Amino acid sequence: MNVPVAAPEVEFVEESAASPAQYLLELNEAQRRAATFGIVPAPNVQRSPPLLIIAGAGTGKTKTLTHRVAHLIVNGARPGRILLLTFARRMASEMTRRVQRLCADARLRLPHGMSEPIEWSGTFHAIGARLLRMHAEQVGLDPAFSILDRADAEDLLDLVREDLGLSHAKSRFPKKSTCLAIYSYSVNARKGLEAALTNAFPWCLEWQAELTRLFGAYVDAKQAQNALDYDDLLLYWSHMMQLPRIASEVAGRFDHILVDEYQDTNALQASILLGLSPMGAGLTVVGDDAQAIYSFRSATVRNILDFPRQFEPPAATLMLEQNYRASAPILAACNTVIDHAAEGFRKRLVSRRESGSKPIIAMVANEAAQAEYVIERVLANREQGMELREQAVLMRAAHHSGQLEIELTRRNIPFVKFGGLKFLEAAHVKDVLAILRWASNPKDEVAALRVLKLLPGIGPSAARRAFATLRGSADFAALSHSDAPRKAVPHLGELAALMAELHGSTCWQAEFDRLRRFYDPLLELNYDAVFTRRGDLDQLASIGGSHPSRTAFLTDLALDPPQACGTHAGPPLKDEDWLVLSTIHSAKGQEWRAVLVLNVVDGCIPSDLATGKAEEIEEERRLLYVAMTRAREDLVLMQPLRFSVRGQTPGGDRHVYAPRSRFLHEEDLHAFELLRAHEASGASPEVSPAGRPAVDLRATMREMWRA
Ligand code: ATP
Ligand code: MG
Repeated sequence: MNVPVAAPEVEFVEESAASPAQYLLELNEAQRRAATFGIVPAPNVQRSPPLLIIAGAGTGKTKTLTHRVAHLIVNGARPGRILLLTFARRMASEMTRRVQRLCADARLRLPHGMSEPIEWSGTFHAIGARLLRMHAEQVGLDPAFSILDRADAEDLLDLVREDLGLSHAKSRFPKKSTCLAIYSYSVNARKGLEAALTNAFPWCLEWQAELTRLFGAYVDAKQAQNALDYDDLLLYWSHMMQLPRIASEVAGRFDHILVDEYQDTNALQASILLGLSPMGAGLTVVGDDAQAIYSFRSATVRNILDFPRQFEPPAATLMLEQNYRASAPILAACNTVIDHAAEGFRKRLVSRRESGSKPIIAMVANEAAQAEYVIERVLANREQGMELREQAVLMRAAHHSGQLEIELTRRNIPFVKFGGLKFLEAAHVKDVLAILRWASNPKDEVAALRVLKLLPGIGPSAARRAFATLRGSADFAALSHSDAPRKAVPHLGELAALMAELHGSTCWQAEFDRLRRFYDPLLELNYDAVFTRRGDLDQLASIGGSHPSRTAFLTDLALDPPQACGTHAGPPLKDEDWLVLSTIHSAKGQEWRAVLVLNVVDGCIPSDLATGKAEEIEEERRLLYVAMTRAREDLVLMQPLRFSVRGQTPGGDRHVYAPRSRFLHEEDLHAFELLRAHEASGASPEVSPAGRPAVDLRATMREMWRA
């Protein structure tokens, strides 16, 4: 497929000799052209025409975007009127920090002073939440709305489903997580339910009528509770942009809008951008169609491919072709993977770093041997001067690292895990957040029920009755009068006192202590491992302390949760070194000197869950490509030969043999070095360095007696 490349309509402005723009010298010519495209310096500042920068991994897209923001500011744009949309919040803060440094380095007299911060940078969801709170009353929302994360949304759907009698309906009604996925897909892809089902969930088509009812009731429930789910943040925002008066007020806040990772936006996000800048003035988007990996959230690669033609005249398209990240042998191997992609916008990537060794495919006996090999290699790299935090272990699914995590913990090697089980998904953390959320929004039934059910003697129906006595008001004292079991009455009294205090509190910093006095005894009553859990809550309190208010804290956490899972690894201290474990999805846009990818076998990449539809398989291929293109110097693809499958047969484990991922074609293996792990490590093949057997023969013995 060919994307037309329009010549830039405005020449980039060379800096005058009086203002040597040092920061622009850090870029190559193509990057510089993209960073300065259409920007006219003050006093004739005007918004540049729309621009698409489409380029392969590691070509400096994010760097160019960062420099473009700096260049805008240096040329008179007001930082406070720039909107920078990124994939994750940490990317946004990293970019704004760099912009500030670049502007400072430019040592130019800035027309508006550098003191004005770039205050509008973040993810679509976070920016949406902020704009909706500001304009809530104009669109019929209460500005104190709660934000339901995915798990909360599932819980609410479950409640509604029960009310409608659908949970007891005929069997096989879709699970709550599937229901939410269908709802979300339909909203984000801007498709009606039937089209969404046909397209993505054909096995649920028979439930269309029930799902329609369910989603209608779900929307009612959210409104009654004054709660928005993630999808609502985009949905309300996009609807807001259809209302001319508010739309112009919102759009009027921004002169320049820049979007990174545009290939992973969905139809709803595209419509929001168009609402913010109907003619594309001041709009720059950056992305790589070969790295589109979010179609399960309805992202569509069409967004980036169709971007130029939305405007008249079409947006200019610029390309970058120099790869600065990977060594030549790594880049060559990455290219063999993506070259097999069925469609895509072909890019010729050239590496800047010729030297380096080929990536490795390491074959190991099983997952235990994989963990051993990974640890050995990581430690060997560290011996050679590569800090742990310059290395990452990536995986297709969060649970792939289970064995590795145990081994790392056992050996006291610090690590942080991104993606997968989040700190906030831990039950005790959710309890505390539910208390805070209910205090902020007395109508929040999901939060309220969670809190009420913690009390001794209160089950689901007593909880619902107790909540009903409040009728959504903040008159928490009424809780004591609900017809709860006698055992629960004193607890309800205590809870009522706590909630009233928190709701009326004017000192956010004192709220955690108060809450803990109430919650800690319940923690002991409801959970084991109390000591670790208390540590998690201390950590939550310290995150809370860095926020100005309860609302700011809750919004931030719902949208950008701290991702390290507390029970395995607390976030390391600042000066400590730690290994990064991450799902491939969460590794987007980042890079490490060394990258090890776990389980590069069929069944993991591509995942078993991919249905076999061509486009799903293509997305899995791009996932492997994204993983591999994170590496700068050292890339290892792990291939365990055998996996144990637990719980499949009564009484024990079974082994399956997994073939190498189909994305590593036989004819391309010359781009890799093939290693058997024991040959590489020098350890004997049967015994791993930790002295544990690499192969568990006991399981094999048990297996012999099974058909
Ligand atoms: P991805 O597709 O993974 O998001 P990207 O295209 O956004 O990658 P960057 O992350 O911006 O690429 O850059 C990749 C690496 O190359 C970074 O380490 C960056 O500092 C470096 N780099 C980019 N451009 C240059 C340049 N002109 N000179 C030196 N280093 C560069
Ligand atoms: Mg990037």
